[in-house]
Amino acid sequence: MSRYICDTLASLAVYTPGEQPQGREYIKLNTNESPYPPTPGVISAAGKAANTLNLYCDPECRALREAAAESFGVSPENVLPVNGSDEILYFAFRAFGGAGRSAVFADITYGFYPVYAAVTGTAAVIKPLKPDYTLDPSDYIGADGTVFIANPNAPTGIALPVSELERIIAGNPDNVVVIDEAYVEFGAESCIGLIRKYRNLLVTRTFSKSHSLAGARLGFGVASEELIADLNKVKYSLNPYNVNSITQAIGIAAFRDGEAFDSYCKKTAEVRGYLSSELVSLGFSVLPSSANFVFAEKDGMSGEELYLCLKERGVLVRHFASPRIKDRLRITVGTREQTDKLIAALKDVLSRKD
Ligand SMILES: *Cc1c(COP(=O)(O)O)cnc(C)c1O
Repeated sequence: MSRYICDTLASLAVYTPGEQPQGREYIKLNTNESPYPPTPGVISAAGKAANTLNLYCDPECRALREAAAESFGVSPENVLPVNGSDEILYFAFRAFGGAGRSAVFADITYGFYPVYAAVTGTAAVIKPLKPDYTLDPSDYIGADGTVFIANPNAPTGIALPVSELERIIAGNPDNVVVIDEAYVEFGAESCIGLIRKYRNLLVTRTFSKSHSLAGARLGFGVASEELIADLNKVKYSLNPYNVNSITQAIGIAAFRDGEAFDSYCKKTAEVRGYLSSELVSLGFSVLPSSANFVFAEKDGMSGEELYLCLKERGVLVRHFASPRIKDRLRITVGTREQTDKLIAALKDVLSRKD
């Protein structure tokens, strides 16, 4: 760090992305990527769009917004495509937070919320999850600022039904409520159907997990026209070309190939059931997941040790150091073959322990 950096950044604890190893080949179950490659339609759209890279992309993403609106059952005016859904989350903190304002979120949830709160000068109001890691909706009624809820939550995988979320949205007429649906396609209900009824609701979606496009960086905000206008103020004061032309083109192709991605998500939900039961039979306790990962622990074993032993055996999973979850591992649901290799590695680790 230089002596020129501003105070806010000098003291900021930044987000730590999961490892993207370069040398050794790992079975990579640490960042909730899809194990299935993009469809041929997506790949060919990327090639075609490359021919126009000399031109700026459409800052309004018109064709992509139309495809998204049709798929989400809303109007194009309700959709804002972004450079990964992390960007729309940042836009929301920037637009609705700031000095003298608060953001309300759980103690165990997506690690970017506290970082965005800090970098935008928004006070963080933390609502601890219950001992079973579920969220109590009444903690969020009449909240003290913008509400951020990941549904399903990360890294727990636990989802709330839309009826419970609607209580929170209806109970906050003076706050924006952001529902982060990064994993909704793997088994939870979407709140997008509520945006017509509630002008204070922002739903965020991503193609990183469900649509095998983590590397393309494509996410969406879906909300009332007024909220989209607020978020566009941030976009047009930062980078109007935030979604590049290749990503816009492959986004449209990915909507067109929606059925293929639905079947990937269904497959992932099946393998999740298999992975969970294998873990339980090895003595793990596994939270009920509606996402493409499970959050598991084994009594008497440190999460960090398990993480390191798996890494030695060529399997990468995610471990978080924060006290309430330090003995749990977040394991991405990969293919059936990857899952079998993970289970074999775990059996090997456990046999050496006894
Ligand atoms: C992965 C993730 C995101 C962001 O993903 P992008 O790749 O930026 O679209 C947002 N929220 C949660 C809870 C996530 O796990």
